[in-house]
This record gives sequence, C-alpha cells and structure tokens, in this order.
Amino acid sequence: MPVPDAVATTEGLKRVRASVRGAVQGVGFRPFVFRLAMELGLRGWVSNSPQGVLLEAEGKPRAVEHFLVRLDLEKPLRSFIQSLECWHLDPVGYTEFEIRPSETGGEKIALVLPDIATCDQCLSEVSDPANRRYGYPFTNCTNCGPRFSIIESLPYDRANTTMRRFEMCAQCRAEYQDPQDRRFHAEPIACPACGPHLTLWDSWGRVLTQRGDALQEAAEAVRQGKILALKGLGGFQLVVHAANEATVLALRQRKRRAEKPFALMYPSLESVREACEVCEVERRLLCSPESPIVLLRRRRASSVASAVAPRNPYLGIMLPYTPLHHLLMRELRFPVVATSGNVSDEPICTDEREALDRLHGIADVFLVHNRPIARHVDDSIVRVMLGRELVIRRARGYAPLPVFVKEPLPSLLAVGGHMKNAIAASVGRMVLVSQHIGDLETAQAYEAFRRVVASFRHLYCLEPAAIACDMHPDYLSTRFAHQDGLPVKPVQHHHAHVLACMAENDLEGDVLGVSWDGVGYGSDGTIWGGEFLRVAGPTFERVACLRPFRLPGGEKAVKEPRRTALGLLYEAFGDGLFSMSGLAPLRAFSPGALPVLQAMLSRGLNAPLTSSAGRLFDAVAAVLGLRQVCQFEGQAAMELEFALDGVVTDESYPFRTRAEGKPWVLDWEPAVREILADVQGGLAVGTIAARFHNTLVEMIAAVAGLEQQERIVLTGGCFQNRYLTERAVARLRADGFRPYWHQRIPPNDGGIPLGQIIAASRGGK
Ligand code: ZN
Ligand code: ZN
Ligand code: FE
Repeated sequence: MPVPDAVATTEGLKRVRASVRGAVQGVGFRPFVFRLAMELGLRGWVSNSPQGVLLEAEGKPRAVEHFLVRLDLEKPLRSFIQSLECWHLDPVGYTEFEIRPSETGGEKIALVLPDIATCDQCLSEVSDPANRRYGYPFTNCTNCGPRFSIIESLPYDRANTTMRRFEMCAQCRAEYQDPQDRRFHAEPIACPACGPHLTLWDSWGRVLTQRGDALQEAAEAVRQGKILALKGLGGFQLVVHAANEATVLALRQRKRRAEKPFALMYPSLESVREACEVCEVERRLLCSPESPIVLLRRRRASSVASAVAPRNPYLGIMLPYTPLHHLLMRELRFPVVATSGNVSDEPICTDEREALDRLHGIADVFLVHNRPIARHVDDSIVRVMLGRELVIRRARGYAPLPVFVKEPLPSLLAVGGHMKNAIAASVGRMVLVSQHIGDLETAQAYEAFRRVVASFRHLYCLEPAAIACDMHPDYLSTRFAHQDGLPVKPVQHHHAHVLACMAENDLEGDVLGVSWDGVGYGSDGTIWGGEFLRVAGPTFERVACLRPFRLPGGEKAVKEPRRTALGLLYEAFGDGLFSMSGLAPLRAFSPGALPVLQAMLSRGLNAPLTSSAGRLFDAVAAVLGLRQVCQFEGQAAMELEFALDGVVTDESYPFRTRAEGKPWVLDWEPAVREILADVQGGLAVGTIAARFHNTLVEMIAAVAGLEQQERIVLTGGCFQNRYLTERAVARLRADGFRPYWHQRIPPNDGGIPLGQIIAASRGGK
C-alpha cells in the first residue's frame, strides 16, 4: 500500500473540526478552548466565525474524545452552546495550538438555526413557583427554543415568525429590549400573559379544558391508557403509556404500523440508564441541544411493552426537549411512546385542524396550542458507531445547518431521491440540507415535498441555475425537476451517495466508493445497489458489483424477501430450486403461487435484474427463516443484523471474484451454497448471520485489494448496519486502507441531495 509522506508524522492521531454555535463570542470561549487543548496536549486552532466559534483539534484519539466532552461540560459560565457540530477528519500534523484571527468574509447569507432544546435556566424558571413563567410550556430564551419550525422568512425577526400574532406584554417587551437580559432579542419570547396557551380537545375538536388544566388532564388520559395527540415543536406526536401493552397495540392498529419500532421519551437520564446501556457519547447526544432520538442497547429487564420494538435489541429514546415535554413528563414520571403523528408513512401533521381530521380515529384526546408551526420537522434519529455519532434521520436540531465545502459552488437545487427524501441547495461554500421529508409514496408526502422546496426557495431567496435530481425517470422528485423549467442535471444514485460521504469528510481527489443500498437506478438501466465506484473528479467508474439476480414481481420483491430469495436461488440453481425441499422462502408461498413465480423467473418477465446488497441481505434473511414479508423498509436486513447479536466469529463463507473485465463481479453463489448447507445442518441462525456479514466484509476487502485505492468511502443504507460498518472499517484499516463513513449526513437516501449538488456542480454525471 503506498503511504503518502504526511501520514508518517500523523500516525495514530485524530483530528476533529467543530463548529460551535450559540453564545460563544465575548464570553472567554476561545481562551477556554486554548487552555483545554493545551492541558490535553492537543494541537490545532480556534477562531471566531460569523456563526460562532470554529476550531480544529488534533492529537491522541482519547485526548480528542475528552476534549469534545469537556468542551461542553466545562464551557465558560456565560456561554451557551446552541449547536455543536463536529466532523472527524484526517490528521494533518499541526505543530501547535493557536488562536487564529476571526474568519471574515464568509457567506453573507443569514443562517437559520435549528430548533434548540430547552436550556437549564429556562427549565429552572418553569419549575420555580415564584417565577412568572412557572409551569409555562412555551418558555424560551435567546439560547433555546423554536427556530426553524417557526421561521417564515428572513431576517429572523419576530415579525417573520409564527409568533408575530402574539403582542408582547410590557414585561416581555422590557426583557426583549434589555441588552443585559437573557431574553434580549429572543424572537419567540412569551409568557403566560401574552404568549400561546394550551387547549385540550376531545376527538371531535370540542374544548375540554385549557392551560394548566389541559396539561394535567392530558397526563391523566395517558395514565389511563388513552392515546394522546400532542402538538409538539415541529409537528404532532402520538403519546401513550409505554408500559401498557394493550394501548401500544391499539396505537399500532390504529396507526396501521405493524412492527416498525416506536420512539420513546423518558422522563430523565437516570430512567434511561435503567432501561439501556448509555455510553459517554450517547449521554452527550441525549442531553445535547439537538436532543435526538438515540438508538440505545436495551438492558434485559426493561419495563416497556414488548410491542414497542418487537424482537429489537435497541430502543430509540429521547429526553424532553421543550418545556411542554418537560412538564408532561414530570407529571407522568414514566416512559411514553412518542411517535410521529401520522398514519403509517404519511408526513407528520403540523396544523391542529388538519390533525383532527387525519388523526381522527387514532387519538382519543388532542393537546394543542395556538402557536402555528411554519414547517414540519420530525425528531432526528442518531446511532453511535465506532465511538461517534451517525445521523440516520436528520431533522430537528440538525436541519437546516449547512455542510461546508472548500470551493464556492454555483447556485443549485437538488431534489433528492424517492425514499427518505430530503432536498438541498448550494449557496457559496455551503450546501443547505433540508429536514427529512419522507418516502414520496403518498400524495400527502409529495405535497410535503413541494412545500419544503417552495419554502426553501422562499426562505433563502434561491435562484438556482439548475436542478439536480436522480437518474430514475419515474421518481416523483425527478418529474418535479423536469416540470420546473430550469436545466436538469440527473445524477446517478450511488455516485451521489459516495459524493455525499466525501463532502462531509472533506475529501477531494480519487476514492473507492462502496455504495451499498436497497435500490438505485443504474447507468445501464438495471437496478443497482451493491456497487464499487471509483470516483475521480466529475466522473465515476463502476469497478465492481455484486452478481446480479432477478426480483420476481419487481417492486413487490422489495416488500417480500421470500420473492427476492427465490430470485437469488434461481440465479444459482435454475428450475431445480423449485424441487428443493425444506426451503423457508418456498414454504412461505402457497403451492399455487409457485408456478407463476417460476414462469416469471424463467422468462425474465416482470423480474428485473439487480445487483443490490440490500436485497442480498433480504434473501439471506428469508433463507434463514427470519423474515418472509416485511412490515417496513429494511426490516429483514435489520433482523439479520440483530440475529448475530452476541456471536463472536471471524469465519466467513467463500465467494468468487470474477475480475476479467470491469465491472468485476463478486459472486455470492459459493456463500449461498454453504449457507443452505448450514441451514440444513441446523447451525445456529446467529452464527450463519455473522458469517454472512463477515463474507460481505471480505468482499469489500477483496475489491479494495484489487483496486489499490487508499481511501475507501462506505456509504448507502446498508451502512446503517453497525456490525457491517464497524467490521468493514476494522478490516480495511488492518489492510492499510483509510476507510471513511458518514457522520452528520445519513448514509441512507437522506444523504442523496448533498451528493447531487456536488455532482451537478462538477458537471459530470
Ligand atoms: Zn432558555
Ligand atoms: Zn409576556
Ligand atoms: Fe440509496
């Protein structure tokens, strides 16, 4: 492996870049960072930036980790961190730590802050009977409260937020105008005398009670096992008692959500620790201004109903992040399910009248208020992998913060993909990435998408020169791009994945991208998803892929791993497959259905070819008898990952690499034959699952060895899988490669719009 000179001096070092926003200027923040860095033996720099403080720290990995934790814990008294974004980057070999002059001449565009979780000071006011904001659910200050979810246009003044309808009372106005006050120019400032208030409705929208009583009665309803629709920060949530099995099941039934795990809200960090293992990074995330849902490994004895997350070793947990949530949880003192207020995959409701209509028949009572929500913002989801955060759903707390790139970009709009849609826009050196919008499967989701595009354009006064979209001609987002009248730049899906991961890791030049997901439209018109792309400048070359197989029934196969399994096995065994005995996916069909499938496969009718890694996961999950029909996207792959929980093995299955002409083909057939033998032999499912994962890692290592490209980018929905990602990273490092993976932009299709912007700006496809 060729190793550039710089690496010799940076061996074993780690570098992070952090952008700290909030009250961090003029409060001794830079000297504090300097002292902390010196104490920990770190090198790098710190400077003021138009958005707050920007810093880089480089040193021993443990010292860097301590630095990040202490940055938050020991910050100067008068400082407040509204958002701390950090990126792990390649070390560069700094020789000292310095306070650099302020960064000036940055982008003049005003940044919109995300919504910020309630600060400690506001919380103590809300808890203080002597304070005029005692028990007031809309308390906020300059350091915390709603932002993105209430802004209608810039500049960020009260008149441009949904708070404009509330006339400030004399006391609030005095605070707002006093430069010494914590609420000096806190645009959403409010109090019980002048601000929004709560109302409790029955399921027909009849007023039951108001203000403090409304909160009490809503809590009582939850205690009694009712389903509460709560108008939260960026939309409605459905709240139920998490330990009440019958209620959780009723919620599943009414919401038409069979098995997809529900998110939970816990009353306190201590209560989370009782239910789950919480490492230091996870603790920081739970208590951060972003306050996302964190996927935590559950302890064996947890008190939540089994219907919350069936057969799932993880729970998605968040802590209260608005005064309203704090007050409700303080009243309840037990964990609740807090899931998005919608029916199955529709977008989250934001308006109470709309909620009454759409959530009728789901919720028993509605706790609403009269502060309008300007745009929907879901709860974000984060998972810790390899000791750092990986954002899986990017919304509240993160959106619409930009990703910075090295060179100014032309003004572009990117409309994303189809699943887990989000959009992005470039302004100077920034790529602004929208909140998670969702799968564009329903008319409502498409409407939400159009609204986000329109509001993004309006908010930032965008005048894009072109629109980037997916190559798939039939995606609604692609069609939208074509209707707009601007030049359209189609971008290959897996190329976009790689570019997104490169952008957030600050990578330029050539890389080998491992772009693995469920489905993406390939340059050759087939369905890709197990791709190895060499990305160089504006172009890419498909250097390798998984051996393609057919998906009988096309779209249907995505929801039915049993179909995918038959497609995979047909590729290996032909018609002989249908006389194999004891195959779980065969038994999952009625005998009458099999001839139809056989005909599809033998004639290749309605059975498109795919090289998808996600589908390979599905097929193996079906062969192992884990999952024949999915209730939600990615379920089979997820269950395959969970199956190996606790199994420790380095064993893997054989595979063939056909490296005659490019793309090289990674042939899974030898592995599948051994998996079948192991199933027949009664080997534990977990062991087979672990060996299968290890095989995929070996495939990545094999292509890396053939391609000899030092930098390897792991991207696509498959890399939400912790075992696969951690194992691939370790394996590649052992072979002398440098692996990169996602951080604050999702590896799934939520990262696509960022990649589309980069691709379109380079003019390649
Ligand atoms: Zn506050
Ligand atoms: Zn007031
Ligand atoms: Fe994808």
